[in-house]
Amino acid sequence: MAWKTLDDMDLNKKRVLVRVDINVPMENGVVTDATRIERIVPTVDHIQHAGGTVILMAHYGRPKGNVVPEMSLEHIAGTVAEVLGWPVVWANADYRDAVKELEGDEILLLENLRFNPGEDANDPAFAKRLASLADIYVNDAFSAAHRAHASTEAIAHLLPACAGRLMEEELRALENALETPKRPVMAVVGGAKVSTKLELLGNLVSKVDTLVIGGGMANTFLAAQGKDVGKSLCEHDLADTAREIMAKAETAGCKILLPADVVVAREFAAGADNEVVRADACPADAMILDAGPEAVAAIAAALETSQTLVWNGPLGAFEIEPFDAATNAAAAKAAALSKAGKLTSVAGGGDTVAALNKAGAAEDFSYISTAGGAFLEWLEGKDLPGVAALKG
Ligand code: ADP
Ligand code: MG
Repeated sequence: MAWKTLDDMDLNKKRVLVRVDINVPMENGVVTDATRIERIVPTVDHIQHAGGTVILMAHYGRPKGNVVPEMSLEHIAGTVAEVLGWPVVWANADYRDAVKELEGDEILLLENLRFNPGEDANDPAFAKRLASLADIYVNDAFSAAHRAHASTEAIAHLLPACAGRLMEEELRALENALETPKRPVMAVVGGAKVSTKLELLGNLVSKVDTLVIGGGMANTFLAAQGKDVGKSLCEHDLADTAREIMAKAETAGCKILLPADVVVAREFAAGADNEVVRADACPADAMILDAGPEAVAAIAAALETSQTLVWNGPLGAFEIEPFDAATNAAAAKAAALSKAGKLTSVAGGGDTVAALNKAGAAEDFSYISTAGGAFLEWLEGKDLPGVAALKG
């Protein structure tokens, strides 16, 4: 590994500044889902048990360099203490004094980093100020690693730096999926639009053996092949781009799998009357809302012969039944193969995670990334500043 982990660091009697993502949803001052706090427990426990003192730093919302009282981390300090099981002291601006006053097992939680304009600006002076609080820097916020901010990038060059447990888990899963995967590798890319996933598609065709294109974006590819997609969601202006991606795939030896049959309906509504037609036979007044059974069978067959799967984007309009059928069936197949140890499966993306949870398949996937934007940029093949900085 090009990056260090907590196991490489001597943490005893050290002050350890840990960048975390505890951007949890709140309603009326109450944290409604503490998952993000739960996920940093292994890192915090490891440092505390190794004799170190944890100083947590995080962002909350997008205050854009202003002090926005509703976005103060003071509001969640109590929940952080409860979930972590360690006493937590919240620190406003006088970080240095707060560090000096820490007693026993106490953890320090710094105020929302983004209240300081230096955070988003990756300002070296702000990074220096943060670094002066500690001996070691740990980044446990993969989900913030696609941004070059003072607490994710600049600071990593000022202190001995390493990945926390959550960051480590995520990086390993992602490296196993695309950098050093067991082949054949397959990707499933679905979702609404090609335009939001152009770079992702471009990167994947050069890395995977089979690329399944589904969801609304498959319509753009079908249309680019001269097929009539009726009233389907389709970016007709991207026909050339779709053809370029198909040509690039052919050169790279990547097989593109488009749906052979589709489910069409006249309205975008739950329980709408629907029928299965060939992919080139969408009626002029209908729209494609899901992949058909033959398409699902082809995906299942491809999964059977693959060793690794990367998935982003649902295969249909999964929010409205019965147009979740293809997504559910493909997810169940991937989950079963993963559970049986025959497939390494990694999935991510806001709607994708929701769809896999809805399908009851998420638990059996090898890894579900909750990182959103950072996961997508990684799929695009970009170097994430927060990860690159850890590599030295
Ligand atoms: P993610 O958030 O996982 O990256 P996207 O945001 O790209 O995924 O795509 C999810 C959206 O794509 C969902 O809202 C879903 O309804 C929509 N979608 C999928 N297939 C179709 C389709 N055939 N027609 C219209 N919308 C679709
Ligand atoms: Mg989305």
